[in-house]
Amino acid sequence: MTEQEFRSGPVARQRYWARSHLGWQRMGEATPNGGHRALAALEQAGVVDLLITQNVDGLHGKAGSRTVVDLHGRIDEVVCLDCGQISSRAALHERMSRLNPDFGADADVVVAPDGDVEFSDTAAFRVPACRRCAGALKPNVVFFGGSVARPVVDRCFAAVDDAEALLVAGSSLTVMSGFRFVRHAVKRSIPVLVINRGPTRADDLPIVKLDAGCTPTLTAVATALQAL
Ligand SMILES: [Zn+2]
Repeated sequence: MTEQEFRSGPVARQRYWARSHLGWQRMGEATPNGGHRALAALEQAGVVDLLITQNVDGLHGKAGSRTVVDLHGRIDEVVCLDCGQISSRAALHERMSRLNPDFGADADVVVAPDGDVEFSDTAAFRVPACRRCAGALKPNVVFFGGSVARPVVDRCFAAVDDAEALLVAGSSLTVMSGFRFVRHAVKRSIPVLVINRGPTRADDLPIVKLDAGCTPTLTAVATALQAL
């Protein structure tokens, strides 16, 4: 769903939340991998100053990274479109379960890896409103067509300016919201290392590219620096 669709009105939001609710119930809890843990260790060792992530799963925090910018938000948070209050998705999930005890119980639901589901009968789903102002709730993530808040972007640019180097781990840099920091670093002659399996949008820029998996590479770096 795009940002514009979500904001278009209650029907679109009902469809989103109904499907998301079913997906959330069926998704197992994700756990950090070796790449997440290596980056947390590198922060602990003073090598990583700031971690900018395009992921919305909160796994860097779970792995122990403390200075994290969640560029595209967090899927475990909910934001009110009217008053801006942020609350927990787990609490909203409980409210939705109470309001819709039998919803989708007998449906043959197929869950995609991102938690989305194929399920069209969403008209009966009851969507809870903001507890503070009764406004409309949205997952605290940037949908396609949405934009990252300016102060967040400025903080990232400032961190790149202060950095000795920029490391890109596991991104094809397709989305401009992350790619712009690479371009910024290149413009300022700050060295950029990209670790990614497969092509990236930065491949034609003057960067160092390592076509490799993040977990083995970052684990090796953290081990070599005696951070792990
Ligand atoms: Zn509100």
